[in-house]
Amino acid sequence: MKLIFATQNQHKAKEIQQMMPVGIEIKTLRDIGCHEDIPETADTLEGNAAMKAQYVVDHYKVNCFADDTGLEIDSLNGEPGVYSARYAGEEKNAENNMDLVLKKLNGVQNRKARFRTVISLMLDGEEHQFEGIVNGTIRQERSGTEGFGYDPIFQPDGYTQTFSEMSMEEKNKISHRGRAIQKLVKYLSSLS
Ligand code: IMP
Repeated sequence: MKLIFATQNQHKAKEIQQMMPVGIEIKTLRDIGCHEDIPETADTLEGNAAMKAQYVVDHYKVNCFADDTGLEIDSLNGEPGVYSARYAGEEKNAENNMDLVLKKLNGVQNRKARFRTVISLMLDGEEHQFEGIVNGTIRQERSGTEGFGYDPIFQPDGYTQTFSEMSMEEKNKISHRGRAIQKLVKYLSSLS
């Protein structure tokens, strides 16, 4: 089965294709000729994921799924949350976003945080949502060269490395998106 993943991010598409069972081929927006910036104007991860998936269904009439992820930091009342991509500004710069988080947490003891991903799957007109969470802490400074976004400052619970110090494979096993995808895969596998 071909399934459209509503993203322009080839890095994420590659991560997800690695986790799919044999028989499920992931295609991205680029593959269906969609180059628009899909609106993400909801104020929750659930709302944004559904909005993106519904947009693709409406415009391209295909089965698809979309995800939305946020980094939720306890001492910042859940910020940056749904605004994670553009926390430091509309240019969506990962370095600036990390700088802002580190600045706001300067001198703060409680550095607990979590990544949360919501996936909205639109299959034959019905929506199914899947959530994945990984708990961790925000480091005092960056470490590592892999991954993207906030990976260099996020250390998952039970590990001494940041996400940025892990291979893609290691990260996928325990990450928020990995966990949400595992639930999606389980659901898709139960259909066949
Ligand atoms: P998206 O919904 O997957 O586009 O994620 C929104 C923002 O959250 C991204 O622009 C990143 O800043 C951050 N983010 C999402 N997933 C990850 C991840 O796996 N590692 C680090 N940052 C992430």
